Amino acid sequence: NFQIESLRKKINIHVKGESIPPPMLSFSSCNIPSKLHENLEGSGYEMPTPVQMQAIPAALVGKNMLVSADTGSGKTASYLVPIVSKCSHIRSQQHSEQKRPLAMVLAPTRELCVQVEEQAKVLGKGLPFKTALVVGGDAMAGQIYRIRQGVELIVGTPGRLIDILTKHDIELDDVCMLVLDEVDCMLQRGFRDQVMQIFLALSQPQILMFSATIYPEVERVAGSLSKDLIYVSSGKPNR
Ligand code: ADP
Ligand code: MG
Repeated sequence: NFQIESLRKKINIHVKGESIPPPMLSFSSCNIPSKLHENLEGSGYEMPTPVQMQAIPAALVGKNMLVSADTGSGKTASYLVPIVSKCSHIRSQQHSEQKRPLAMVLAPTRELCVQVEEQAKVLGKGLPFKTALVVGGDAMAGQIYRIRQGVELIVGTPGRLIDILTKHDIELDDVCMLVLDEVDCMLQRGFRDQVMQIFLALSQPQILMFSATIYPEVERVAGSLSKDLIYVSSGKPNR
């Protein structure tokens, strides 16, 4: 569609893949809870950034995607908005007392995980949306307790997460969204085996991968995780 193409051109977004929804020009034009919308405004997010304009609607319709956009372009909210929106909706429809985790964000460092979890809490305020931080340096017992109390989102580093999952019985069958932040790092040798181990423990979640740079090898591994991956890149010409 010509109109959609020229809009993408205007905001410097490139896409590759099947049935990708058009970019949204404002947070109010996508179907998210009004409370989340308020929380975005409360954070000073008046307008979505270009990567958010394309990634949020695509994630909301369930696309698996690999997104590359510069540092500082707003990748965190590109996945947290869909996560908060979907998970709080799913939870509000559930009648079960058991609140198993619904989404997982993996990132390479403790510091990054701390920041992501903080932003997730802000965006999920007032909604059925709780988070657990699973990183080294904090006591494992507290992290497990928190998960058992019932959370929607787990944010963690692969090492500590595997530690917890192998020693404790945590039900991951309800995890329907998985994010790999800094995916260029997460799918390089070193982290890749751990990430794959976690991915394989889940029941075919929607997968969202983000990075500033995407190496060809990472793109190949990312492609192998989903047969209908879409590609979104912001701010640079199509590779
Ligand atoms: P990236 O992960 O792409 O490097 P971040 O998600 O960390 O970028 O966002 C960079 C900064 O931009 C953060 O301070 C964040 O709060 C801010 N930000 C993100 N999206 C918006 C927005 N839509 N409006 C205003 N500020 C935003
Ligand atoms: Mg980031």
